[in-house]
This record gives sequence, C-alpha cells and structure tokens, in this order.
Amino acid sequence: MVSVGELRLPGGNLAELPELDEVALLAGLQQRFLRQQIYTDIGDILVAMNPFQPLSLYGREVSERYQNYGTGTLPPHIFAVASRAYHAMLGRGGGSPRGQSIVISGESGAGKTESTKLLLQHIMNLSKGNLQLEQQILQVNLLLEAFGNAQTVMNDNSSRFGKYIELHFQKNTVRGAKLSEYLLEKSRVVHQDTGERNFHIFYYMFAGLSSEEKEMYGLLDPSLYRYIGGQFCTWDVAQRWKHKYQEVCNALDRVGFQEQEQVDMQAILAGVLSLGNVTFQPEESNGSVKVSEASRGWLKAAAGQFGVQEDELLKCLICTTSVTRGEQIQRFHTQHQAQDARDSIAKEAYSRVFGWIICKVNELLAENVDPEVELREIGILDIFGFENFAVNSFEQLCINLANEQLQHFFNHHIFQLEQAAYKEEELPWENITFSNNEPILNLLLAKPLGLLSLLDEQSAFPRATDKTFVDKLNSSFKGNVHFQPSQGRVLGFSIIHYAGKVQYTAGGFLEKNRDTLPANIRGLFINSVTPLVTVLFTATVSRTGTLMPHVKAKVIPGADEKFNSTRKQSAGAQFRHSLMVLMERLYSANPHFVRCIKPNSRKEPGVVDSQVVLLQLRYNGLLETIHIRRRGFSWRPSFEEFAERYRILLVKPDVSLTKESCLEILQSTELAHWMCGKSRLFFKYWHQEQLAKYVERLERA
Ligand code: ATP
Ligand code: MG
Repeated sequence: MVSVGELRLPGGNLAELPELDEVALLAGLQQRFLRQQIYTDIGDILVAMNPFQPLSLYGREVSERYQNYGTGTLPPHIFAVASRAYHAMLGRGGGSPRGQSIVISGESGAGKTESTKLLLQHIMNLSKGNLQLEQQILQVNLLLEAFGNAQTVMNDNSSRFGKYIELHFQKNTVRGAKLSEYLLEKSRVVHQDTGERNFHIFYYMFAGLSSEEKEMYGLLDPSLYRYIGGQFCTWDVAQRWKHKYQEVCNALDRVGFQEQEQVDMQAILAGVLSLGNVTFQPEESNGSVKVSEASRGWLKAAAGQFGVQEDELLKCLICTTSVTRGEQIQRFHTQHQAQDARDSIAKEAYSRVFGWIICKVNELLAENVDPEVELREIGILDIFGFENFAVNSFEQLCINLANEQLQHFFNHHIFQLEQAAYKEEELPWENITFSNNEPILNLLLAKPLGLLSLLDEQSAFPRATDKTFVDKLNSSFKGNVHFQPSQGRVLGFSIIHYAGKVQYTAGGFLEKNRDTLPANIRGLFINSVTPLVTVLFTATVSRTGTLMPHVKAKVIPGADEKFNSTRKQSAGAQFRHSLMVLMERLYSANPHFVRCIKPNSRKEPGVVDSQVVLLQLRYNGLLETIHIRRRGFSWRPSFEEFAERYRILLVKPDVSLTKESCLEILQSTELAHWMCGKSRLFFKYWHQEQLAKYVERLERA
C-alpha cells in the first residue's frame, strides 16, 4: 500500500504507481486537483475532475503543444485524447486506422459537455484546410445547448438529450459532420420541478428580442407564461441571456438557416408558450369541456402563431374526431384529457423543432467528398449523466438505462475482452474481478420479461394504469436483488443501479410511454399557413438516428389522412432501439474513454468532497481499471497486423507477415515488457508511442 505522503505521479499516470488502494487513489486525485491538475491518466483512460471555474488550460499555445502524435510525455489533458483519436484515425501509431470514438461518461454536472466542446475545438485545430466547415461545426454546439439544455438542480447547463457527433475526414481534413440525438426530455416543455427551468431558448428569446419583434411574435411579459413558471431573473442574468440570444442568432446564420425559417421557428416557440396558458372548464349543459373565458385570447394567439384556424385547434383540444364507416364521430374530452391534449401538442411541437434543427444541421454539414478517397470517422458521445433526483420519472429511467449501457460497454472493453484474450492466447493471468452490471441491464431490457417490455405490454392495454404496471413489476421482479418494491404509500419502485439506488415514481409512466398525440393534430398542422409547421408535421421529415422518430409514425393506408390516427412505437421501444444502434456503432469503433468526476455536489471550485468522489470512483470501477492497466496489455495486434505496420523497421525487402518477423522487428528495438501469444502480440499502452518514435526516426533518417 502506498501512503498518501509518498504518492508521486511522475507523468500524471496512475497506472505507473506501485500497489494502490482506494484511499491513496482518492488522495492522489485530490492532491492533483488542488494544484489545478484536473486531468489524470489511468493508462490510456483520462480522468477529468470538474474544476467549476475557468482555468487557463485551453489556450492556443496549449493546443499547439498537443498537436503531434505522441503526447505521452506531456501532462494528461483532454487535448491529448483528441490528439490520440485524430492520429489513430489517420493510422499513426499502429493498429488499423478504423473508426475512432470518444466515449465520455460521468454523472450530471461532471463536465461531459464541456469536455466534448474542448475535444471538438482541438480536433478542429488539428484538422487541416476546411476553415468554413470547421467554424460551422463549432457553432452547432451553441444551437444544441440553447434548445436542448436547461438548468436543473444538479447542473445549470444540463444536457436534456444525448448526442453522438460524427466527424468525417478524408486524409487529415474534416469533410462533414453528422449528429444523432437521443431522447430529448420533452416533458420539460410543460413542467419543471422546483429549482429547475425550461429549455434555455425560451429565456434567451425574451431577453434578446426587441419590443417590435416581441409584438410581431405575439409575445407578452414573460411572467405571464405558465410553461416558464412565471420565473424570470435579475438584470445581470438577463444581460447574459441577451448575449446568448445574439450568439444563437449568429450561429443559425452561420450554420446556414434561412431567415424565414428562423422567423417561423420563433413563432412556433411563441405558439408553444401561448398554448400552455389555455385552460379549460367543464361545460355545465353536457359534461364536456370548453376553453375558459379568460384564456380565449391565448388560444387565439397560439392558433395565429402556429398558422392554423382557432376553431380547428380548439376542436383538437376538446374532442377527438374519428371516422367509422365513412361517418365522422366526435367524442368530447374530459377536462383532464383536454389538458393532456394541450400539453402533448406543446411537447410535440417543441421536440419536432429540435429534431428539425438536428436534421437541418445534418443537411448543412453533410460532407462534400472526393469519391476516390477513403472516408474516416471520429465520433464523440456526450449523453445525459446518471440522475437521482428527489422525484424520478420515466425520463430518469431512460437516462439511467443509457448510463448502464455505457458502463457495460466500458466493462466489456476494459475487462471482458482483454481478459478473454489472455485466456485464449494462453498467457499467464490472474483474473481481475469487476462489478458486472449485466443483471441490471437484463432487468431493464430483457424480452419479454424486462421492465421496458412489461411497460409496453401494459401500455397496450387501454384499461391498464400506473398501479397495474407497478403490481406487474412487483410480481415479476420479486426477489431480484436489483429491484425493490416501494415502501409506504408512494406508487413506485426502486432500481439498484450500478451507480446507486434510485427511487422512481410510477405516476405518468404509461402515458409517457404511449406518447400519444391528439389524433387530428397532424392533419391540422400539415395544413398550416406557416411553412415550417407544415414541414415539421409532414411524415417525410426524417431525423437521423433519433430516439424519438415520431416522424416514422405510420399512417394507416386507405383512411383520410386528416382524420387518421397515427400508430407509432412506444417511447420506451424507440429508446431501446436507438440505444441499440448507438451501441452497434460504439462496438465497431476503437474507443477512447474519458471519465468525468464531480468533485462536490455544490458546484464549488477548489473543494473535494471525499465521499462524493469516492462513490464515483467506486461505481466507475476506477480502482479495478488501474489494476488492469498496470498489469494488462491494452494493445493486442495480430502478428499480421503488427508485421505489416512495422516491417519498415527491419529495413530489408520481403518481410513476411509472421510471428518470426514480429519477433525480429521487436528485437531490433529496445522495447521491454511486451508478451507474445499464440496469434497476437501483447503491448502496454505506452508501447505504441515508443514504436512510432522508431518509425519517425527512420523516416527522418
Ligand atoms: P449533464 O449530464 O447534466 O449534461 P455534464 O456532465 O455535461 O452534465 P457540464 O455541463 O459539462 O456537465 O459541466 C457543468 C458545469 O461545470 C459547466 O457549465 C461549467 O461551469 C463547469 N465545467 C465543467 N468542465 C469544466 C472545465 N473543464 N473548466 C471549467 N469549468 C468546467
Ligand atoms: Mg451535458
């Protein structure tokens, strides 16, 4: 065991230390953090502690130091990860130059999105020769954050969606980019818990629009709108929002959005807010509902902002029209159903705007390629971090499921694949155990008896309720160590996740999973006089890789489109599907891991709360990671792959791609601590860089 006082990290790499326990690991990270060394390496994995304050670590000069291949001698840095991925994409440093992915994980507020921006910034600095596209790519983040981030109790700029950014290269030049979006938390549009806010863009708009523009969009005082909870802000904050609004407008221009599109988009956002103020009251004569007198004006405003007829919009809110044997039948809503219809229209309109922005960005940033040159890729994954709030609902379940999947991917890559290779190649190896979260993934994803499948089964029963759903879970998961029935009278259940126990409230699960839209709304919006509204609600708008492909909703053939009800997959099933697509992508690329750690829960600079950090180190499996990185061999090329790449080191013709050639190559170097298996070689994480130096020296000679 290493005592705290002795702890030395020569290159900031924890895998270089002798035996190390949890206490020493924590102390090591803490000491570095307090010296503003927020980055630490564990072999080739980067640990990043959120400083909660701006540090001068990212200037041009620093970026230049991390330009070249072989940053191993420099202190650990997020730029080094970007650089490694970029040079690996170009095929430098051994191994085949396949797709690269950078997988960033950590709980909400740990610094994933900031890391993503820094990675992008550095990769764009490394990329050569397409300045306009590089600038456009950097602007996209501004848009995504304005429309997809919001203040939560855990993070003032919390991502309320997941994203995977693919950068496409030909040689060393970026040629295009593609975004995939995962599960925007659209319920936030209509409701936020105490201490939280709606999506940033709503506030930026109020702070940034001139009085004339507000009048044009029919916007009144922000305090009047229910969906933004009447909350506004101090003068200082308003100035910051105003500035942000300007940045968003500039980004929309630079990325290439047309002026009319921008105007329509803001009208739709205004429409969402006005719609939120429409309230209902029972109609005494016949038990149906009507719009309350006081909110008639809001209905009129919303209809105008969406570009549709007021009475048609009203019909969608207060009744459902269907066609049976050619006859139109109207069924009136209850007050509760009318409110649900209103909220689901607002959520749908907002999430379609978000999806359309992604779609448009993808169109504008699609690559302009030379068909003769191979296209290569670096992907960066930034999802919403693990969440455990006072009240957790369907959204938190999906978010936490995505984090379980990522943890599993990490375990698979770092522990399972690696240890399986030692066994297969008959290398002497003492197994390192890790906390395998597969049973939790099974509990959530198994078919037909996993939680999501049971939720779908219940959602398909018209008479099922959140209560019958919970009963079903309690009976199906009795005795499962990762499931706990709710204590007391709260309708819910708890899941013991890899990162801790989360109590979920079941209220609203079925409805959120069904994700239904008033039957006639699509028909109405498709015929809007506002072009963008028509585009958003037309089925041909496609969103690439999205988790919420409402646009894939099937229209039942033969029926009148206007009165057709749309049938679509449940929200849970769509989420499961897009997670699967994402995982396939990750499994086919060469991953680089960044593990973000939150030093304290109060967002304070210079403070390390040991308990908070220790918990994260434990559930991230960082101690086990250090063990495997220290003892293990993270680079394992086949004989053929290795000989092909490094035969130039022998400086002779006709080197065959065999084990013997590999050994000859290695004996010509001074590399130590590698091993030879039955079909491949085993190298430490630092060996690639050493070999690259030999190649470089030879090329220079
Ligand atoms: P979520 O899962 O909620 O989206 P996140 O992991 O993406 O959380 P970030 O939004 O990246 O968290 O970080 C939260 C805040 O922490 C940032 O708004 C910023 O104030 C601060 N922060 C994070 N990383 C850095 C950094 N490298 N330098 C300075 N401040 C940082
Ligand atoms: Mg984020």
